[in-house]
Amino acid sequence: MTGTAGEHLAWLEEGQRHLWLPYTQMKTAPRPLPVVSAEGVRLRLGDGRAVVDGVASWWTAAHGYRHPHIEQAVKRQLETLPHVMLGGLVHEQAARLAARLARLLPGDLDHVFFSESGSVSVEIALKMAVQYWLNRGERRTRFLSFAKGYHGDTFMTMSVCDPDEGMHALFRGVVPEQVIADLPVDADSEARLAALLAAHGHEIAAVIVEPLVQGAGGMKFHDAETLRRLRTMCDRHGALLIFDEIFVGFARTGLDLFACAAADVVPDILTLSKALTGGTLPLAATVASRKVFEAFWDDDPARALMHGPTYMGNALACAAANASLDLFESEDRIGQARAIGAQLAADLEPARALPGVVDVRVLGGIGVIELTRLGDPAWLKQRFLDLGVWLRPFGNILYTTPPLTIGADDLRQLTKALVTVAGEWSARFGKGE
Ligand SMILES: *Cc1c(COP(=O)(O)O)cnc(C)c1O
Repeated sequence: MTGTAGEHLAWLEEGQRHLWLPYTQMKTAPRPLPVVSAEGVRLRLGDGRAVVDGVASWWTAAHGYRHPHIEQAVKRQLETLPHVMLGGLVHEQAARLAARLARLLPGDLDHVFFSESGSVSVEIALKMAVQYWLNRGERRTRFLSFAKGYHGDTFMTMSVCDPDEGMHALFRGVVPEQVIADLPVDADSEARLAALLAAHGHEIAAVIVEPLVQGAGGMKFHDAETLRRLRTMCDRHGALLIFDEIFVGFARTGLDLFACAAADVVPDILTLSKALTGGTLPLAATVASRKVFEAFWDDDPARALMHGPTYMGNALACAAANASLDLFESEDRIGQARAIGAQLAADLEPARALPGVVDVRVLGGIGVIELTRLGDPAWLKQRFLDLGVWLRPFGNILYTTPPLTIGADDLRQLTKALVTVAGEWSARFGKGE
Protein backbone atom coordinates (compact mmCIF):
# COMPACT_ATOMS: atom_id res chain seq x y z
CA MET A 1 0.00 0.00 0.00
CA THR A 2 1.27 3.48 -0.80
CA GLY A 3 0.54 6.70 0.94
CA THR A 4 -0.10 5.75 4.54
CA ALA A 5 1.04 8.22 7.18
CA GLY A 6 4.77 8.67 7.39
CA GLU A 7 5.50 6.05 4.80
CA HIS A 8 8.62 6.48 2.70
CA LEU A 9 7.68 6.91 -0.96
CA ALA A 10 10.46 5.38 -3.05
CA TRP A 11 9.24 6.97 -6.31
CA LEU A 12 9.34 10.41 -4.73
CA GLU A 13 12.95 10.07 -3.57
CA GLU A 14 14.12 8.73 -6.89
CA GLY A 15 12.01 10.87 -9.19
CA GLN A 16 12.34 14.27 -7.64
CA ARG A 17 15.98 14.55 -8.67
CA HIS A 18 14.86 14.24 -12.28
CA LEU A 19 11.47 15.91 -12.40
CA TRP A 20 11.66 19.59 -13.46
CA LEU A 21 8.57 21.37 -12.17
CA PRO A 22 6.63 24.34 -13.63
CA TYR A 23 7.40 27.93 -12.57
CA THR A 24 9.66 26.49 -9.88
CA GLN A 25 13.12 27.46 -8.69
CA MET A 26 14.24 23.88 -8.21
CA LYS A 27 17.05 24.86 -5.82
CA THR A 28 15.00 26.68 -3.21
CA ALA A 29 11.39 25.56 -3.63
CA PRO A 30 9.94 23.46 -0.84
CA ARG A 31 9.45 19.82 -1.78
CA PRO A 32 6.35 19.27 -3.87
CA LEU A 33 3.55 17.38 -2.16
CA PRO A 34 3.04 13.83 -3.32
CA VAL A 35 -0.58 13.11 -4.27
CA VAL A 36 -1.55 9.46 -4.39
CA SER A 37 -5.23 9.67 -5.33
CA ALA A 38 -8.13 12.07 -5.73
CA GLU A 39 -11.88 11.82 -5.36
CA GLY A 40 -14.64 14.43 -5.45
CA VAL A 41 -13.12 17.67 -4.18
CA ARG A 42 -10.30 16.01 -2.23
CA LEU A 43 -6.68 15.17 -2.92
CA ARG A 44 -5.11 12.38 -0.88
CA LEU A 45 -1.51 13.14 0.02
CA GLY A 46 1.37 10.74 0.51
CA ASP A 47 1.11 10.94 4.29
CA GLY A 48 -2.54 9.89 4.21
CA ARG A 49 -4.05 13.36 4.72
CA ALA A 50 -6.93 14.41 2.49
CA VAL A 51 -7.14 18.12 1.59
CA VAL A 52 -9.91 20.08 -0.14
CA ASP A 53 -8.67 21.24 -3.55
CA GLY A 54 -9.48 24.93 -3.92
CA VAL A 55 -7.77 25.23 -7.31
CA ALA A 56 -9.37 22.26 -9.12
CA SER A 57 -6.01 21.50 -10.72
CA TRP A 58 -5.65 24.84 -12.45
CA TRP A 59 -9.43 25.13 -13.03
CA THR A 60 -9.83 21.89 -14.94
CA ALA A 61 -11.69 19.58 -12.53
CA ALA A 62 -15.10 21.25 -12.84
CA HIS A 63 -17.04 18.10 -11.88
CA GLY A 64 -14.63 17.06 -9.13
CA TYR A 65 -12.13 14.22 -9.45
CA ARG A 66 -12.98 10.77 -10.77
CA HIS A 67 -16.52 11.51 -11.80
CA PRO A 68 -17.88 8.05 -12.68
CA HIS A 69 -19.52 9.22 -15.92
CA ILE A 70 -16.21 10.50 -17.33
CA GLU A 71 -14.28 7.57 -15.93
CA GLN A 72 -16.57 5.07 -17.67
CA ALA A 73 -16.47 6.94 -20.98
CA VAL A 74 -12.66 6.95 -20.97
CA LYS A 75 -12.50 3.24 -20.04
CA ARG A 76 -14.91 2.35 -22.85
CA GLN A 77 -12.90 4.37 -25.34
CA LEU A 78 -9.62 2.81 -24.18
CA GLU A 79 -11.02 -0.61 -25.04
CA THR A 80 -12.02 0.39 -28.58
CA LEU A 81 -9.79 3.17 -29.91
CA PRO A 82 -7.44 5.18 -27.66
CA HIS A 83 -6.01 7.30 -30.45
CA VAL A 84 -5.81 7.62 -34.18
CA MET A 85 -4.21 10.39 -36.25
CA LEU A 86 -6.65 12.93 -37.69
CA GLY A 87 -4.58 13.27 -40.86
CA GLY A 88 -6.94 11.71 -43.41
CA LEU A 89 -8.78 9.74 -40.71
CA VAL A 90 -11.53 10.65 -38.32
CA HIS A 91 -13.33 9.04 -35.39
CA GLU A 92 -16.71 9.36 -33.74
CA GLN A 93 -15.62 11.10 -30.53
CA ALA A 94 -13.88 13.99 -32.31
CA ALA A 95 -16.72 14.39 -34.82
CA ARG A 96 -19.40 14.36 -32.13
CA LEU A 97 -17.46 16.75 -29.90
CA ALA A 98 -16.93 19.25 -32.73
CA ALA A 99 -20.64 19.21 -33.59
CA ARG A 100 -21.65 19.58 -29.94
CA LEU A 101 -19.29 22.50 -29.31
CA ALA A 102 -20.59 24.23 -32.44
CA ARG A 103 -24.15 23.75 -31.18
CA LEU A 104 -23.37 25.02 -27.67
CA LEU A 105 -21.39 28.09 -28.75
CA PRO A 106 -23.32 31.18 -29.85
CA GLY A 107 -23.49 32.61 -33.36
CA ASP A 108 -21.64 30.94 -36.20
CA LEU A 109 -18.67 29.65 -34.17
CA ASP A 110 -19.02 26.41 -36.09
CA HIS A 111 -15.57 25.11 -37.08
CA VAL A 112 -13.52 23.31 -34.46
CA PHE A 113 -9.77 22.63 -34.68
CA PHE A 114 -8.44 20.41 -31.88
CA SER A 115 -5.05 20.48 -30.17
CA GLU A 116 -3.65 19.23 -26.89
CA SER A 117 -3.01 22.29 -24.76
CA GLY A 118 -4.32 25.77 -24.15
CA SER A 119 -1.16 27.52 -25.31
CA VAL A 120 -1.19 25.58 -28.57
CA SER A 121 -4.86 26.39 -29.16
CA VAL A 122 -3.97 30.09 -28.80
CA GLU A 123 -0.97 29.67 -31.13
CA ILE A 124 -3.37 28.19 -33.66
CA ALA A 125 -5.84 31.05 -33.19
CA LEU A 126 -3.06 33.59 -33.84
CA LYS A 127 -1.77 31.70 -36.87
CA MET A 128 -5.33 31.35 -38.17
CA ALA A 129 -5.79 35.11 -37.87
CA VAL A 130 -2.58 35.91 -39.76
CA GLN A 131 -3.41 33.40 -42.51
CA TYR A 132 -6.98 34.69 -42.69
CA TRP A 133 -5.50 38.00 -43.85
CA LEU A 134 -2.84 36.41 -46.10
CA ASN A 135 -5.52 34.33 -47.80
CA ARG A 136 -7.42 37.55 -48.43
CA GLY A 137 -4.30 39.19 -49.86
CA GLU A 138 -3.50 41.44 -46.90
CA ARG A 139 -0.43 41.34 -44.73
CA ARG A 140 -1.36 41.83 -41.08
CA THR A 141 1.12 40.24 -38.73
CA ARG A 142 0.72 41.88 -35.33
CA PHE A 143 -1.70 41.46 -32.47
CA LEU A 144 -3.27 43.75 -29.95
CA SER A 145 -3.65 42.39 -26.44
CA PHE A 146 -4.23 43.71 -22.94
CA ALA A 147 -2.40 44.52 -19.73
CA LYS A 148 -2.95 41.75 -17.13
CA GLY A 149 -3.75 39.27 -19.91
CA TYR A 150 -2.43 35.72 -19.93
CA HIS A 151 -2.61 33.45 -22.97
CA GLY A 152 0.04 30.79 -22.45
CA ASP A 153 3.76 30.08 -22.19
CA THR A 154 4.85 29.33 -25.77
CA PHE A 155 6.73 32.03 -27.68
CA MET A 156 3.92 33.68 -29.60
CA THR A 157 1.48 33.40 -26.69
CA MET A 158 4.08 35.02 -24.41
CA SER A 159 4.09 38.00 -26.78
CA VAL A 160 0.39 38.66 -26.13
CA CYS A 161 0.63 38.26 -22.33
CA ASP A 162 1.05 41.23 -20.00
CA PRO A 163 4.64 42.28 -20.74
CA ASP A 164 5.43 43.25 -17.15
CA GLU A 165 4.26 40.08 -15.47
CA GLY A 166 7.18 38.25 -13.88
CA MET A 167 6.60 35.05 -15.80
CA HIS A 168 7.66 36.37 -19.19
CA ALA A 169 9.36 39.76 -18.64
CA LEU A 170 12.75 38.09 -19.19
CA PHE A 171 11.85 37.39 -22.81
CA ARG A 172 11.15 40.96 -23.79
CA GLY A 173 13.02 41.63 -27.01
CA VAL A 174 13.07 37.92 -27.83
CA VAL A 175 9.36 37.50 -28.52
CA PRO A 176 7.74 39.66 -31.21
CA GLU A 177 6.60 43.02 -29.94
CA GLN A 178 2.82 43.38 -29.97
CA VAL A 179 0.56 46.32 -29.23
CA ILE A 180 -0.43 46.12 -25.55
CA ALA A 181 -3.37 48.24 -24.40
CA ASP A 182 -5.56 48.78 -21.38
CA LEU A 183 -9.01 47.20 -21.59
CA PRO A 184 -11.61 49.75 -22.74
CA VAL A 185 -13.43 49.79 -19.40
CA ASP A 186 -14.43 53.48 -19.57
CA ALA A 187 -14.50 56.44 -21.94
CA ASP A 188 -10.84 57.32 -21.30
CA SER A 189 -9.41 53.88 -21.95
CA GLU A 190 -11.78 53.49 -24.89
CA ALA A 191 -10.39 56.68 -26.46
CA ARG A 192 -6.80 55.48 -25.92
CA LEU A 193 -7.58 52.13 -27.50
CA ALA A 194 -9.29 53.85 -30.43
CA ALA A 195 -6.12 55.91 -30.98
CA LEU A 196 -3.94 52.79 -30.90
CA LEU A 197 -6.20 51.04 -33.39
CA ALA A 198 -6.25 54.09 -35.64
CA ALA A 199 -2.42 54.10 -35.64
CA HIS A 200 -1.87 50.34 -35.96
CA GLY A 201 -5.18 49.05 -37.34
CA HIS A 202 -3.80 48.21 -40.77
CA GLU A 203 -1.18 45.84 -39.29
CA ILE A 204 -3.29 44.25 -36.54
CA ALA A 205 -4.46 40.75 -37.54
CA ALA A 206 -6.47 40.26 -34.36
CA VAL A 207 -7.28 41.58 -30.92
CA ILE A 208 -7.07 38.88 -28.25
CA VAL A 209 -8.74 39.04 -24.84
CA GLU A 210 -9.79 36.82 -21.95
CA PRO A 211 -13.48 37.77 -21.80
CA LEU A 212 -14.95 38.89 -18.42
CA VAL A 213 -12.09 37.56 -16.28
CA GLN A 214 -8.34 37.86 -16.78
CA GLY A 215 -7.24 34.76 -14.92
CA ALA A 216 -3.54 34.02 -14.42
CA GLY A 217 -2.66 37.73 -14.80
CA GLY A 218 -4.40 38.54 -11.52
CA MET A 219 -8.05 37.43 -11.52
CA LYS A 220 -9.26 40.82 -12.75
CA PHE A 221 -12.91 41.22 -13.76
CA HIS A 222 -14.44 43.49 -16.40
CA ASP A 223 -17.99 43.84 -17.67
CA ALA A 224 -19.83 42.81 -20.81
CA GLU A 225 -19.95 46.41 -22.01
CA THR A 226 -16.14 46.35 -22.32
CA LEU A 227 -16.43 43.38 -24.67
CA ARG A 228 -19.17 45.05 -26.70
CA ARG A 229 -16.88 48.07 -27.14
CA LEU A 230 -14.11 45.75 -28.31
CA ARG A 231 -16.43 44.09 -30.82
CA THR A 232 -17.46 47.46 -32.25
CA MET A 233 -13.88 48.72 -32.45
CA CYS A 234 -12.61 45.53 -34.10
CA ASP A 235 -15.37 45.77 -36.68
CA ARG A 236 -14.46 49.38 -37.37
CA HIS A 237 -10.77 48.56 -37.95
CA GLY A 238 -11.28 45.19 -39.59
CA ALA A 239 -9.28 43.31 -36.93
CA LEU A 240 -10.47 39.85 -35.94
CA LEU A 241 -11.56 39.40 -32.33
CA ILE A 242 -10.26 36.37 -30.44
CA PHE A 243 -11.82 35.33 -27.11
CA ASP A 244 -9.54 33.13 -25.03
CA GLU A 245 -12.10 31.26 -22.90
CA ILE A 246 -9.62 28.68 -21.66
CA PHE A 247 -10.23 29.82 -18.08
CA VAL A 248 -13.73 31.34 -18.14
CA GLY A 249 -15.40 28.75 -20.38
CA PHE A 250 -17.63 25.98 -19.03
CA ALA A 251 -19.71 27.81 -16.42
CA ARG A 252 -16.87 29.14 -14.26
CA THR A 253 -18.41 32.65 -14.18
CA GLY A 254 -21.85 31.38 -13.13
CA LEU A 255 -23.34 33.64 -15.83
CA ASP A 256 -23.60 31.20 -18.71
CA LEU A 257 -21.70 28.23 -20.10
CA PHE A 258 -19.40 30.59 -22.02
CA ALA A 259 -18.43 34.21 -21.38
CA CYS A 260 -19.26 35.16 -24.98
CA ALA A 261 -22.85 33.97 -24.45
CA ALA A 262 -23.06 35.81 -21.12
CA ALA A 263 -21.80 39.03 -22.73
CA ASP A 264 -23.82 38.53 -25.91
CA VAL A 265 -20.72 39.16 -28.02
CA VAL A 266 -19.65 36.66 -30.69
CA PRO A 267 -15.90 36.66 -31.37
CA ASP A 268 -14.38 35.56 -34.69
CA ILE A 269 -12.21 32.91 -33.04
CA LEU A 270 -12.53 31.31 -29.60
CA THR A 271 -10.20 29.04 -27.62
CA LEU A 272 -11.17 26.41 -25.05
CA SER A 273 -9.24 23.97 -22.88
CA LYS A 274 -8.89 23.58 -19.07
CA ALA A 275 -12.39 22.27 -18.05
CA LEU A 276 -13.09 20.87 -21.53
CA THR A 277 -12.32 17.31 -20.38
CA GLY A 278 -13.32 17.95 -16.77
CA GLY A 279 -9.70 17.73 -15.65
CA THR A 280 -8.94 14.25 -16.95
CA LEU A 281 -6.99 14.46 -20.21
CA PRO A 282 -5.24 17.21 -22.14
CA LEU A 283 -7.35 18.69 -24.93
CA ALA A 284 -7.98 22.12 -26.42
CA ALA A 285 -10.05 23.59 -29.21
CA THR A 286 -9.73 26.61 -31.48
CA VAL A 287 -13.18 27.44 -32.81
CA ALA A 288 -13.59 29.64 -35.89
CA SER A 289 -16.60 31.55 -37.13
CA ARG A 290 -17.92 30.99 -40.63
CA LYS A 291 -16.23 34.17 -41.89
CA VAL A 292 -12.81 32.94 -40.76
CA PHE A 293 -13.36 29.40 -42.03
CA GLU A 294 -14.47 30.68 -45.42
CA ALA A 295 -11.19 32.53 -45.92
CA PHE A 296 -9.50 29.11 -46.01
CA TRP A 297 -12.18 27.42 -48.17
CA ASP A 298 -10.65 27.29 -51.65
CA ASP A 299 -9.51 25.04 -54.50
CA ASP A 300 -5.93 26.04 -53.73
CA PRO A 301 -4.23 23.64 -51.25
CA ALA A 302 -1.88 26.45 -50.21
CA ARG A 303 -4.81 28.21 -48.56
CA ALA A 304 -5.41 25.34 -46.13
CA LEU A 305 -4.64 25.86 -42.45
CA MET A 306 -1.11 24.47 -42.18
CA HIS A 307 -1.23 23.05 -38.71
CA GLY A 308 -1.68 19.54 -37.27
CA PRO A 309 -0.58 18.50 -33.80
CA THR A 310 0.23 14.78 -33.71
CA TYR A 311 -2.19 14.05 -30.88
CA MET A 312 -4.92 16.43 -32.06
CA GLY A 313 -8.40 15.13 -31.35
CA ASN A 314 -7.06 12.26 -29.22
CA ALA A 315 -9.97 9.84 -28.86
CA LEU A 316 -9.59 9.29 -25.11
CA ALA A 317 -9.54 13.04 -24.54
CA CYS A 318 -12.53 13.62 -26.85
CA ALA A 319 -14.46 10.83 -25.08
CA ALA A 320 -13.71 12.54 -21.77
CA ALA A 321 -14.84 15.88 -23.21
CA ASN A 322 -18.08 14.40 -24.56
CA ALA A 323 -18.78 12.89 -21.14
CA SER A 324 -17.92 16.22 -19.53
CA LEU A 325 -20.38 17.98 -21.87
CA ASP A 326 -23.05 15.41 -20.88
CA LEU A 327 -22.55 16.57 -17.29
CA PHE A 328 -22.67 20.27 -18.19
CA GLU A 329 -25.95 19.55 -20.01
CA SER A 330 -27.57 17.27 -17.42
CA GLU A 331 -26.41 18.87 -14.17
CA ASP A 332 -26.81 22.55 -13.35
CA ARG A 333 -23.18 23.67 -13.21
CA ILE A 334 -24.15 27.29 -13.91
CA GLY A 335 -26.50 27.26 -10.91
CA GLN A 336 -23.80 25.62 -8.81
CA ALA A 337 -21.28 28.29 -9.82
CA ARG A 338 -23.82 30.96 -8.85
CA ALA A 339 -24.42 29.33 -5.47
CA ILE A 340 -20.66 29.10 -4.91
CA GLY A 341 -20.44 32.80 -5.78
CA ALA A 342 -23.11 33.73 -3.24
CA GLN A 343 -21.33 31.81 -0.49
CA LEU A 344 -17.89 33.12 -1.48
CA ALA A 345 -19.20 36.70 -1.39
CA ALA A 346 -20.61 36.25 2.12
CA ASP A 347 -17.74 34.19 3.57
CA LEU A 348 -14.84 36.24 2.15
CA GLU A 349 -16.34 39.65 2.98
CA PRO A 350 -14.74 39.88 6.48
CA ALA A 351 -11.29 39.91 4.83
CA ARG A 352 -12.06 43.26 3.21
CA ALA A 353 -11.51 45.16 6.47
CA LEU A 354 -8.05 43.66 7.11
CA PRO A 355 -5.04 45.99 6.83
CA GLY A 356 -3.08 45.03 3.74
CA VAL A 357 -6.10 43.71 1.83
CA VAL A 358 -6.85 45.87 -1.23
CA ASP A 359 -9.84 44.02 -2.60
CA VAL A 360 -12.18 41.08 -2.16
CA ARG A 361 -13.98 40.10 -5.35
CA VAL A 362 -16.17 37.23 -6.48
CA LEU A 363 -17.67 36.08 -9.75
CA GLY A 364 -19.40 32.71 -9.81
CA GLY A 365 -16.88 30.01 -8.97
CA ILE A 366 -14.03 32.51 -8.56
CA GLY A 367 -13.21 34.08 -5.18
CA VAL A 368 -10.30 36.47 -4.70
CA ILE A 369 -8.60 38.23 -1.78
CA GLU A 370 -6.04 40.66 -3.19
CA LEU A 371 -3.19 41.66 -0.88
CA THR A 372 -1.18 44.89 -1.11
CA ARG A 373 2.06 43.00 -1.58
CA LEU A 374 3.44 39.56 -2.25
CA GLY A 375 2.79 36.87 0.27
CA ASP A 376 5.55 34.40 1.14
CA PRO A 377 4.58 31.41 -1.04
CA ALA A 378 6.10 28.73 1.19
CA TRP A 379 4.48 30.15 4.31
CA LEU A 380 1.10 30.54 2.60
CA LYS A 381 1.22 27.00 1.24
CA GLN A 382 2.04 25.57 4.67
CA ARG A 383 -0.66 27.54 6.48
CA PHE A 384 -3.30 26.46 3.95
CA LEU A 385 -2.23 22.83 4.32
CA ASP A 386 -2.39 23.14 8.12
CA LEU A 387 -6.02 24.19 7.62
CA GLY A 388 -6.72 21.20 5.36
CA VAL A 389 -6.88 22.89 1.97
CA TRP A 390 -4.81 23.09 -1.21
CA LEU A 391 -4.55 26.66 -2.54
CA ARG A 392 -1.81 28.17 -4.71
CA PRO A 393 -1.89 31.99 -4.77
CA PHE A 394 -0.48 34.05 -7.64
CA GLY A 395 1.89 36.35 -5.76
CA ASN A 396 -0.41 38.76 -3.91
CA ILE A 397 -3.62 37.19 -5.25
CA LEU A 398 -5.16 34.64 -2.90
CA TYR A 399 -7.91 32.88 -4.82
CA THR A 400 -10.09 29.84 -5.00
CA THR A 401 -11.66 28.25 -8.07
CA PRO A 402 -13.05 25.03 -6.59
CA PRO A 403 -14.70 22.19 -8.49
CA LEU A 404 -18.23 23.42 -9.30
CA THR A 405 -19.65 20.36 -7.55
CA ILE A 406 -18.27 21.42 -4.15
CA GLY A 407 -20.73 21.32 -1.23
CA ALA A 408 -21.34 24.19 1.20
CA ASP A 409 -19.30 22.63 4.04
CA ASP A 410 -16.21 21.92 1.96
CA LEU A 411 -16.47 25.40 0.47
CA ARG A 412 -16.63 26.83 4.00
CA GLN A 413 -13.40 25.03 4.81
CA LEU A 414 -11.78 26.81 1.85
CA THR A 415 -13.18 30.24 2.70
CA LYS A 416 -12.31 29.87 6.39
CA ALA A 417 -8.76 29.00 5.43
CA LEU A 418 -8.57 31.98 3.06
CA VAL A 419 -9.91 34.48 5.62
CA THR A 420 -7.82 33.00 8.45
CA VAL A 421 -4.60 33.06 6.47
CA ALA A 422 -5.34 36.54 5.09
CA GLY A 423 -5.80 37.64 8.73
CA GLU A 424 -2.51 36.08 9.80
CA TRP A 425 -0.72 37.62 6.82
CA SER A 426 -2.30 40.96 7.65
CA ALA A 427 -1.07 40.76 11.26
CA ARG A 428 2.47 39.89 10.14
CA PHE A 429 2.93 42.05 7.05
CA GLY A 430 -0.16 44.18 6.51
CA LYS A 431 0.54 47.07 8.88
CA GLY A 432 1.86 50.42 7.87
CA GLU A 433 0.57 50.13 4.33
C1 LIG B 1 -4.21 28.22 -18.84
C2 LIG B 1 -4.46 29.20 -19.88
C3 LIG B 1 -3.80 29.17 -21.11
C4 LIG B 1 -2.70 28.16 -21.41
O1 LIG B 1 -3.16 26.85 -21.37
P1 LIG B 1 -2.10 25.66 -21.19
O2 LIG B 1 -2.93 24.43 -21.33
O3 LIG B 1 -1.50 25.81 -19.83
O4 LIG B 1 -1.09 25.81 -22.26
C5 LIG B 1 -4.11 30.11 -22.06
N1 LIG B 1 -5.05 31.04 -21.84
C6 LIG B 1 -5.72 31.12 -20.67
C7 LIG B 1 -6.77 32.15 -20.49
C8 LIG B 1 -5.44 30.21 -19.65
O5 LIG B 1 -6.09 30.30 -18.49
